Amino acid sequence: MAKHRAQRGNLFVISGPSGTGKGTICKEILNICDLKLSVSMTTRNPREGEQNGRDYFFVTKEQFEENIANGNLLEYANVYGNMYGTPKDAVIRQLERGKNVLLEIDVQGALKVKKAMDEAILIFLLPPSMEILRERLSGRGTDSEEAIERRSQEALNEIRLLGEYDYYVVNDDLTEAVSEVSAIILAEGRKVPDKVKPIIREYE
Ligand code: 5GP
Repeated sequence: MAKHRAQRGNLFVISGPSGTGKGTICKEILNICDLKLSVSMTTRNPREGEQNGRDYFFVTKEQFEENIANGNLLEYANVYGNMYGTPKDAVIRQLERGKNVLLEIDVQGALKVKKAMDEAILIFLLPPSMEILRERLSGRGTDSEEAIERRSQEALNEIRLLGEYDYYVVNDDLTEAVSEVSAIILAEGRKVPDKVKPIIREYE
């Protein structure tokens, strides 16, 4: 049975330390689950191939601050020196239309979302081990030894916040991790809602 029209969508937040494969997993999940990805706002410069409005809304620091002042952001955080935030209205609108929404944001942001919207379902992606995380971080070939050590320490600090989350998935094998995340999304969508009358009425 499809989700009933009157039913509010679920808000999923996927986060985890850098190097856990968040981006890759989210891409796969969007292909197989009925979810809308929230497009964040950022002050960082676009990377090659990134499009404004698709990958991010790229804005100046002044524009970002204006959005904070106007209460347009559900949460925001400074990640490695750049500001990132989740536009609030778009998320609320989709949820009210009964659509599931996915946020791929950092750990500080995820905890702020949970505070603002208790209904949010937080999924933490873990690396198989710290050793493997370090290997993955150095495998990118873009960071210095020092930067890798710093990111590993930051990762450990984030992992220590796991208790605030609802689910965790270890990304050892990508296919398995994707199927675990999609199982969580499906199961959450099949929870019996508070208001069951609209569903029952379809059978009367
Ligand atoms: P990148 O610059 O590599 O695209 O993203 C850097 C980090 O920022 C990632 O950990 C990503 O999950 C996080 N991020 C992206 N959008 C948001 C957002 O709207 N809010 C927060 N708090 N973090 C975000």
